[in-house]
Amino acid sequence: MPLKANIRFSELVPRRLHLVVLLLAALMVASLVYQQKIFTRFLEEQQLHASSQAVLATLGHLEADLLFAQESARRLAGLMSFSGSDLALEPGSLEALIEENDDGVRRSRRGSFDARKEAGIWIPASVNLDERTRKHFLRAWRLTNLFGQASFSERLVDAWVLPLTNGEVIFYPDAPNFVFNAGRDTDYRTTDWVKLADPAQNPQGDARWTKAAFDPVAGAWMVSVVVPYFEDGVWAGTVGHDLLLSELFSALVVKSQVGSRGLLPLYVVTKGGDLLLKDVAMPGQGEKIPAEYAPILARASPRGLVAETLGDDTYLMAPIPALDATVIYRLSGALNRAALGSMLGPLQWISGVLMLLLGMLGYGVLAEDRQRRQQQRAALEGRNRELAEMVAVRTSELAAANQQLEAMMLQDHLTGLGNRRAFDQTLERVWATAQRSRQCFSVVMLDVDHFKGYNDALGHPAGDACLRTIGRVIKESARRPEDVALRYGGEEFALILPDTDLNGALQVAELLRLMVMAQQLPHPRNAAGMVTISLGVASLNFEEDKAPADLLARADAALYRAKQGGRNRSEADRPRHLPSPEAGE
Ligand code: GH3
Ligand code: MG
Ligand code: MG
Repeated sequence: MPLKANIRFSELVPRRLHLVVLLLAALMVASLVYQQKIFTRFLEEQQLHASSQAVLATLGHLEADLLFAQESARRLAGLMSFSGSDLALEPGSLEALIEENDDGVRRSRRGSFDARKEAGIWIPASVNLDERTRKHFLRAWRLTNLFGQASFSERLVDAWVLPLTNGEVIFYPDAPNFVFNAGRDTDYRTTDWVKLADPAQNPQGDARWTKAAFDPVAGAWMVSVVVPYFEDGVWAGTVGHDLLLSELFSALVVKSQVGSRGLLPLYVVTKGGDLLLKDVAMPGQGEKIPAEYAPILARASPRGLVAETLGDDTYLMAPIPALDATVIYRLSGALNRAALGSMLGPLQWISGVLMLLLGMLGYGVLAEDRQRRQQQRAALEGRNRELAEMVAVRTSELAAANQQLEAMMLQDHLTGLGNRRAFDQTLERVWATAQRSRQCFSVVMLDVDHFKGYNDALGHPAGDACLRTIGRVIKESARRPEDVALRYGGEEFALILPDTDLNGALQVAELLRLMVMAQQLPHPRNAAGMVTISLGVASLNFEEDKAPADLLARADAALYRAKQGGRNRSEADRPRHLPSPEAGE
């Protein structure tokens, strides 16, 4: 049966499948780790970029707030600048606006305005107002009330007017404490508010920012913008806005950051290192930035955003020019990683588990395929063994058949003796042995006398029976195991007698002749009245016989002589001392 060459996928899979699977798994894990690194770095860069953009936008809002306060103050100053004739037209008295409150203090009526939306005038009881100043206040109130209605922002904590005539604050809508507790004893003419507005230093009448300062009365950090106002071209006073830094800086919290709660400003710090903001809270008075931030703060630029890395964290620094300060944000590396981890973690778990399942599945399929192949191979080997056994059996059967066939080919059907072919082979073999051993051997050729007549008289079947009988007798006459009796052809037979000289052979021949006669087979056409045979004997002559045919020819010649001599006798190829058989016996 031909074996098909079927190459299967599993044959391409190396033997140490589990090692390969392990190697692949390691590669997968490595690639996952690598991917995470790349992805993390990418996200970090994205986050830095997004944070920078958000910080810039936030600072834009802060700048806008400051600018708005600035412009608001300028507008207020414009409204407050008037001529004496304008003032003369100012009607009414302040009394309508002033009331005595529960605490016995006379001041402007509180219920007359919404402090959060409108400006108002608060008049301390101690202020001794002359007619001019009263009108001045009244006008300021009216104008600022308008102003307040028009554009007052909740982000701007307060607005005030500071007349030069005395140093008291007369307009302070949101923080009456400031007015009552601080205003009375303060000579505002010596404050930054007045000095920065002084046309001697500020000829253009620009809006100027004071230094951010801690106001112990309000208990808060403040920064003010101041602008001078004029009466008939003469500096009459200063208007301005106070801004609570806590309010202002609340806008610095950047919302909706990538994967984190929000970006909080770490510090707002002045050029001198004073903190204006510390961890989203107001710092204590005189608090300085911690020394470890000095190196990164040194990199801050007044021109724009700077990102600096210190240790695990990245710091974003941006200038606030109006305050001459810098805001510092911290992008925490640890928080970043935690945020990224919480984003990436589930994904990685899922892909890890999927890979594991896939690997197990693949391993199972391949292993099963291999096992099936091994089983098939084992079955095939078993079949091959069976086949080999079958072939062996058949071969031996064939050999036996061949042997049988060969035996049949060498056998004479009628007598069961070896046939002519067997005779030739035996003669060759015995000849060769004799040549080697230098041992003599003999051949007896015999022929049934007048056998044609026998057939003619008794019929062919009787002739066959006669030949069978003679064959049996010849076989019996070959007594030694090595002696071979054969049918030479027709009614001629032969005896090959190894290791037998001429005398021995003649004795065998004579014995055989007598044994045939002893059968008493009636033969109507033989003078002897029975079946007789004639025999010719020859022995190997090493000098004369060059081939088996030579020996055979001499035996034949002897047989011929026996026939010629009257039949029923044995003749050697040479006359010997043996008495010639008695003719007629
Ligand atoms: P001789 O004494 O000179 O040998 O005379 P012969 O008649 O025997 O000699 P011949 O060779 O003329 O005749 C041999 C006969 O043997 C011829 C043939 O019919 C017969 N014969 C040969 N083979 C067989 C056989 O197998 N069966 C039978 N019945 N007869 C056979
Ligand atoms: Mg004959
Ligand atoms: Mg004959």
